Amino acid sequence: MRIGNVQGRPWLITGDGEGFDIGKASSGRFGPGLAEIYENWPEFAAWAPSADGEVKTFLPEDLGPPSPEPRQVFAVGLNYRDHAEEAELSIPAEPLTFTKYVTSFAGACVEVELPPGKVDWEVELVVVVGRTARRVAAADAWEHVAGLTVGQDISERDLQLIGPVPQFSLGKSFPGFSPTGPYLVTPDELDNLADLELGCSLNGQEVQRARTSLMLFPVDILIERLSRITTLMPGDVIFTGTPAGVGVHHTPPRFLAPGDELVSYIEGLGHIKQTFTAAKEGSAP
Ligand code: ZN
Repeated sequence: MRIGNVQGRPWLITGDGEGFDIGKASSGRFGPGLAEIYENWPEFAAWAPSADGEVKTFLPEDLGPPSPEPRQVFAVGLNYRDHAEEAELSIPAEPLTFTKYVTSFAGACVEVELPPGKVDWEVELVVVVGRTARRVAAADAWEHVAGLTVGQDISERDLQLIGPVPQFSLGKSFPGFSPTGPYLVTPDELDNLADLELGCSLNGQEVQRARTSLMLFPVDILIERLSRITTLMPGDVIFTGTPAGVGVHHTPPRFLAPGDELVSYIEGLGHIKQTFTAAKEGSAP
């Protein structure tokens, strides 16, 4: 099934731009927000296949992030060999993990204000956790996943490298820098969970294209490694890393500019779109 965040309420998606309100269809048993759906994920997943409701339409702009208020957000760097190679960095022995602060979250179709600096794109498969996961083996990892969605780990490169050692989280957390969507797609909807094409284009020109099977730490291993250390909670979000083709490694380097349109897709999950506007006066950090 596909679940959308339509103006802050969970909907079951029945077709292109249409679906029904889960809170109403369940007479208040599930909802009113998305977070409550993940808190009760096993019960919800059992109820949803037979659910029925009054189908209504919505616009792409109505869609918020599939998990809008996770307790934890994980993001993984250098998780594709070709991206590590383009960055001339060695392959990590453990997932290189940072966070994106939740105020940077946005829905599928938004305008993003560009801060000063070098703003770059990173298309990523995003995982939403459906069950508390503590010391979970890779073989059991997918049972702890609610679903998958498309994400962008938008990144301002100057802030990333301004200190004596790189720090990722702040430069990747300006407002709108963590768009996800359009929907949460449950694993049963996908024929080959571990091998999905993903990519993005800038103003219609393809800049990234790869397959999730090329991840160094695939989703099941990421959940195993992260849950050895932390406890993954329902609704938690994991950005799983980006393949080659980011702007900083183009020749010459290329960064997002006002008026640019960035479209990102993943096979079976749909696409998201951001347009970029100029920084407002006085917005320098
Ligand atoms: Zn990233």
